[in-house]
Amino acid sequence: MIPVMAEQAPPFPESDPAKAILRRYFGFETFRGFQREVIDHVMQGGDAVVLMPTGGGKSLCYQIPAMLRRGVGIVVSPLIALMQDQVGALRQNGIRAAFINSSLNSGEVSQVINQARMGTLDLLYMAPERLLMESSLGLLSQMNIALFAIDEAHCVSQWGHDFRPDYLGLTALADQFPGIPRLALTATADAPTRSEIIHRLRLENSRLFIAGFDRPNIQYRVAIKDNPKKQLKTFLKNEHAGNAGIVYCLSRSKVEETAYWLVEQGFNALPYHAGLDNGIRRQNQERFLFESGIIIVATIAFGMGIDKPDVRFVAHLDLPKSLESYYQETGRAGRDGLPADAFLTYGLEDVVLLRKFIDGSKAEERIKQIEHRKLDSLIGYCESAECRRRILLTYFGDNPPPTCNNCDTCLTPVATWDGLVAAQKALSCVYRTGQRFGTAHLIDVLTGKMSEKITRFSHHSISTFGIGKELTTNQWRSVFRQLIASGYLEIDVEGHGGLRLCEASRPLLRGEKTIFFRMDADAPKPMAQKKEKKKERITDKKEPITDTASSPLTSRVYAQSGLWKALRSMCVELGKQQGVPPFFIFNDTTLREIVSAMPTTLEQLGQIHGVGTNKLKNYGQQVLQLISSFRS
Ligand code: ADP
Ligand code: ZN
Repeated sequence: MIPVMAEQAPPFPESDPAKAILRRYFGFETFRGFQREVIDHVMQGGDAVVLMPTGGGKSLCYQIPAMLRRGVGIVVSPLIALMQDQVGALRQNGIRAAFINSSLNSGEVSQVINQARMGTLDLLYMAPERLLMESSLGLLSQMNIALFAIDEAHCVSQWGHDFRPDYLGLTALADQFPGIPRLALTATADAPTRSEIIHRLRLENSRLFIAGFDRPNIQYRVAIKDNPKKQLKTFLKNEHAGNAGIVYCLSRSKVEETAYWLVEQGFNALPYHAGLDNGIRRQNQERFLFESGIIIVATIAFGMGIDKPDVRFVAHLDLPKSLESYYQETGRAGRDGLPADAFLTYGLEDVVLLRKFIDGSKAEERIKQIEHRKLDSLIGYCESAECRRRILLTYFGDNPPPTCNNCDTCLTPVATWDGLVAAQKALSCVYRTGQRFGTAHLIDVLTGKMSEKITRFSHHSISTFGIGKELTTNQWRSVFRQLIASGYLEIDVEGHGGLRLCEASRPLLRGEKTIFFRMDADAPKPMAQKKEKKKERITDKKEPITDTASSPLTSRVYAQSGLWKALRSMCVELGKQQGVPPFFIFNDTTLREIVSAMPTTLEQLGQIHGVGTNKLKNYGQQVLQLISSFRS
């Protein structure tokens, strides 16, 4: 274990202490989004629920108040790997952080506890089960506590696949530590999860901070399955040679088969699923984090707490469970803000399989209904002719513009048909039947099909009975899914999962708006605009052009390309020595800035994004030496 810095944090003479920490320790100039608001709110003793997309910068929201407030900030984090990473990264920045988990022996645990008691720790990470042990709660009550931060707070939700029963016990913090600010943080933002977090963690009096969920650097693409392995290979070869990424598959056997196949095809791929031997699993995860250019092929068991900033793509060979899972899984791409891809292939066989999973589960009927509706939203997303980003963001409650220019439907529009009349029929049918039925029944009404349910509710005598015979049942299904995906119909998740109208339905019903449904099912073609963008990327693969090497511009390109490689190797080397991933030393965003600015003094280097005082002290000279060796 790396020892905790013993020195006291220097005082903050600046008039704005939060900003001073941001600069001095993290090397950033400005706060992002509402980080500042959360910090100010917590500094005044308030509780907060913070919803921000992955990579949005949630950590600073509690790290900075924990450093500024008296006492230690207790961070509840679900995974050992996650807390070790966070603590490692904090220490790189010279921040006094530690964790307590099962990887420490009792001597190490007492050492950490002593530091916390003495007030020489700013942040202490613990797993919920450890925190809730009576002895731990006793110890905590003897410490000065700056705040409690509950990370990955959606783990408290019984709906989600990340549910951790121990999180439910965190309610106790509200009673046992009144007056100490509590923050719940998550990237999962759908309304039911949000209210569950607030309710279960007793955060009714907290302030809610919801960030825009857009991840503009991620390009969303969906392709109909047509030899998915070949599709994946083309995608990897043409767009992601040498890049790190994640390929998600539904089953363990498919993970292994796909990883093996990729290796045969010459890719650097490793499998990851819950059935693998612990040691191998851990090793594969570490290689993904520490080495560059590894493709991890995984089930959804892989991902929570994966903090690797330079994941350049997330590919789904099978449908994820819901749009929430999809957004969370794809959110692991491009955390460094550089261009990244989310690539999904889907086929009807996936839908059948997932439906079977849901039906075969032991969940109660109501929950199954909702799972089916969630799957509908996801299929709707795949089938839609609208901007993918718009659909995703609408689903999470944002109000995005109609096009984004960075998804397949925006970049290569698909063939569509004018669906206004069909949409109006579908919406009227929802209305006339009382806004409480699911798609199957609504389609029976529209196509005039008699069933026991139709008779029971006398739906054969309403005006929408049999008005939709021009479309087949399958076509109607697709219409409903696209209406749901585009936000024209809502799923009543609190009730029985029936469909109901919403604000957006009105203009459609009145004919004040047009709507087009997707017609073709062709795989999207490669995108021209994207290729141009990629050319600008600096990668270690790219060799400089040789024939014009004499021009001053080209010699700078030469130097920069060499410097980039050298800096990267330096980070790998330093990371190895300290047992941390290379991006803990400097991440790609910082390296890019260094390469383009080529600073000559420590002061200039210190201005660069991500170079705080500690890193400047530890690595500054070495970086400057490298730069000077490439300048001449
Ligand atoms: P998450 O919301 O997923 O927990 P993190 O807190 O890990 O996100 O932050 C994601 C990335 O953004 C990190 O590399 C972090 O250093 C960077 N970051 C966070 N806040 C800022 C800021 N104000 N300015 C620049 N970069 C920031
Ligand atoms: Zn778009």
